[in-house]
Amino acid sequence: MNNIILIRFNEIHLKGGNKKYFTRLLYNNIKYALRNIECKIENIQNRLLVRDYQDEDEIIDILRSIFGIHSISRAVELDSSVENINNYVSKMVVESTFKCDVNRAEKSFPVKSNEYEADLGEIILKNNEKAKVNVHKPEVIIHVDIRENGKTYIFKDIIYAYSGLPLGEYRDGLLLLSGGIDSPVAGFCMAKRGLRQDMLHFDSYPYTSPQAKDKVITLARTVAKFNGARFLYICSMTKMQEAFHINCKPEYAINLLRRAMVRVANAICDKYNYKTIITGESLGQVASQTIESLSNTDGVSEHLIVRPLISFNKEEIIAIAKDINTYETSILPYEDCCTVFLPQNPVIKPIKVISEKEESRVIDYEELLKSVIENIEVIDLSK
Ligand code: ATP
Ligand code: MG
Repeated sequence: MNNIILIRFNEIHLKGGNKKYFTRLLYNNIKYALRNIECKIENIQNRLLVRDYQDEDEIIDILRSIFGIHSISRAVELDSSVENINNYVSKMVVESTFKCDVNRAEKSFPVKSNEYEADLGEIILKNNEKAKVNVHKPEVIIHVDIRENGKTYIFKDIIYAYSGLPLGEYRDGLLLLSGGIDSPVAGFCMAKRGLRQDMLHFDSYPYTSPQAKDKVITLARTVAKFNGARFLYICSMTKMQEAFHINCKPEYAINLLRRAMVRVANAICDKYNYKTIITGESLGQVASQTIESLSNTDGVSEHLIVRPLISFNKEEIIAIAKDINTYETSILPYEDCCTVFLPQNPVIKPIKVISEKEESRVIDYEELLKSVIENIEVIDLSK
C-alpha cells in the first residue's frame, strides 16, 4: 500500500486525438511546478499521480493552481483485487453517515460497481458501530477508483482545482498589465484557457513614481505564477502623453493614449511573436470601455484583442483578485499613466476620423512612437 496524490482532469478528456498532447502538456507543467520538490509524477491512463514525497500539503497547494487539473485527492494505492480492497476497507474507521462510490474503469474487475458498492457498505457497517448508510446526503463518501493499470485508489476527499486547459508551450499572449485590479484577473482568466503570456506595462515617469513601477513588478511576479510569464516589458509613454497634452483636444487624451498603447503592443507582438493582446477592460466600467471606445482602439490593432472581463461586474473581478492574491498589491495607492493628464470630460463615444485628425496634430507621431518602442525596458521575471 502506498500513499499517493491522485490528479484528475476533465476538459482534456474531450480532446479526442489531441488528448495525449494535452495530457503530456499538463504532465510537463506539473513537473515544472514541482521541480524543487522531491517526488515522482506518473501518467496512468486518464489520471496523473504523485508519489514518493515528504510534504503532501505543499504539493497539493501547488497543484491547486495548475490549469487543466479538475481535482486532487490524497489516496492510498492498492493492487486491484477483491481481497485487497475488502481487507483495506474493513480497517477503515467510519463514524458518520457514508456511502461507497466505486468507479470500475478496469472492466475485467470481477464485481460490477453497484454490487461492489453494496458489498463494501456491508463491510463498513459490520466493522463500525456508528456508521450509517445515506446514499443521498452522506457525510463521508468512500471513493474506490479501480484503474486500468491494475491498481485501485481509495480516498475520501476531493479538492477542486481551477479546471480549464493546461498552459501551452509557447507564450502566445501579451497581457497589458496596469497596476489596477482588473488586468491581473484578465491574465488569470486567459491562463485558465491555456494561454501562456508575457506582460506589458506603460508608465509615465516622472509623472508616475518609481514606487508605482515597483508595485507593478511585484504584481507581475504574482501573475507570472499562473500565466507562465517570463518577461515584463516596461514602456514609458511620457513623450506621447506630453505631445497629446500640448497638441490635441483634451477630451481625446485617453482615447489617443489607448490607441498608442495598442500600437506599441502590436509592435511587440510582431517582434516577439505574440499572437494576441489581453486587456482587463469591462463594458461600461469607464469612458474608455464603451463599445465605441473599444471598437475605436480595435481599429488600430492587427492582432486580436481579447477582453475576458468584458461581462464581469467589479465585485466578480474583486472576488477573483482576492482568490489569486493580486488584490492586496493592486489596491496600493500609486498612480497609473492613465491618470496623468486626465481630462475633465473624456470622450465616451470617440469617432475614428476625429481620433485620426487629433493624431495628425502630433507632427512627429511616428518618430515618437518608434522612440517609445526602442526604449522599452525588458525585465526577466525568472531572475
Ligand atoms: P485596471 O484595474 O486593470 O487598471 P481600469 O478599470 O483601471 O483597469 P483602464 O485604466 O481603462 O481600466 O484600463 C483598462 C485596461 O487597459 C487595463 O485592464 C489594462 O489591460 C490596460 N491598461 C491600462 N493602463 C495600463 C498600463 N499603465 N499599462 C498596461 N496596460 C494598461
Ligand atoms: Mg488601470
